[in-house]
Amino acid sequence: MIELPAGLTAEALRAQIRGEILENEPLKDRTTYRIGGPARLLICPKDLEDLQRLNALMEGCGVPRFILGGGANVLVSDAGFSGIVVHLKNFNTLEFQGSKVTAGAGLVLDAFVSTCLKRRLAGLERLSGIPGTLGGALRMNAGAFDAEISDHLVTVECMDFEGNHRVLSKSEVRFAYRQAPVIRDSYILGATFDFPDGDGEALFIVREEILARRYERQPWQYPSAGSVFKRPPGYYTGKLIEDLGLKGVRIGRAQISPKHAGIIINLGGAKAADVLGLIRLAQAGVLERYGVNLELEQELIGFNGIGKI
Ligand SMILES: Cc1cc2nc3c(=O)[nH]c(=O)nc-3n(C[C@H](O)[C@H](O)[C@H](O)COP(=O)(O)OP(=O)(O)OC[C@H]3O[C@@H](n4cnc5c(N)ncnc54)[C@H](O)[C@@H]3O)c2cc1C
Repeated sequence: MIELPAGLTAEALRAQIRGEILENEPLKDRTTYRIGGPARLLICPKDLEDLQRLNALMEGCGVPRFILGGGANVLVSDAGFSGIVVHLKNFNTLEFQGSKVTAGAGLVLDAFVSTCLKRRLAGLERLSGIPGTLGGALRMNAGAFDAEISDHLVTVECMDFEGNHRVLSKSEVRFAYRQAPVIRDSYILGATFDFPDGDGEALFIVREEILARRYERQPWQYPSAGSVFKRPPGYYTGKLIEDLGLKGVRIGRAQISPKHAGIIINLGGAKAADVLGLIRLAQAGVLERYGVNLELEQELIGFNGIGKI
């Protein structure tokens, strides 16, 4: 565990930050893999002013930082995260003005989707059932069934780690497949959308179809973080892994799903090291047999030098 600078201990921060501050908070309960050690500190700033103050206190300290949404696309190491996790659950505003919607990054994505559909706003129905928050979806440019969260986006509100607060247009963010490069190292605070009108009943029929297809294809009974790898152009990741005979292979309590080989599941009590072992096994096999580099879609957190942080 790192020693936090005097100004960044929980006690010192509580004198300045109004939001919740948790020490040694288990991340296992905050990720859909249900895996991961504790975060040294987990902080939920109350509002923008609180976040700005926290960010200024962190500046130049060299303490690692990670912004956690719903934890649906991350693998946290068994040792946990030796730094500050910022969780923006309090950025949860939702305002409708005709076809225009202003939404906070901390909203649960699927609840946001369903609320928009109830208001007969079309465009998000094919994203039904994607776990996580709106902030995480924007950061990942989450998508499914030929739709992406950025499709009807107008602007993204964010703040970079230098504290610059900006509202960027969709084109400025340069969204691409499962990435949003310009806001990669920023706190994503919220977004505005402009949705076309839809037929309420028809939108919910599509939603139900999508949820049924997800249920049929994915191993919902087990904790996972969805697709482990990005889809390499011209290939289906699940098929590549399946053709290698790796479907159903286990390391410890982690398993390459027998239902969908592109997903790794936690059979109960899996370690991050087990999941990482399966990731490396699939990557090495696919590279050797097909010459295809499987790039991780999921982010590795707290692995000391491997992955993002
Ligand atoms: C069963 C299952 C099915 C899935 N199906 C799909 C699918 O069909 N399509 C798809 O695209 N994904 C899918 N996923 C993956 C996941 O749901 C998406 O990537 C989702 O958008 C992640 O959101 P999150 O809030 O959980 O982000 P997290 O996992 O918490 O974080 C992911 C990344 O976003 C960053 N981040 C999160 N919030 C913010 C913020 N407010 N500001 C800045 N950065 C932030 C994190 O730092 C991290 O880099 C699936 C996952 C599961 C478990």
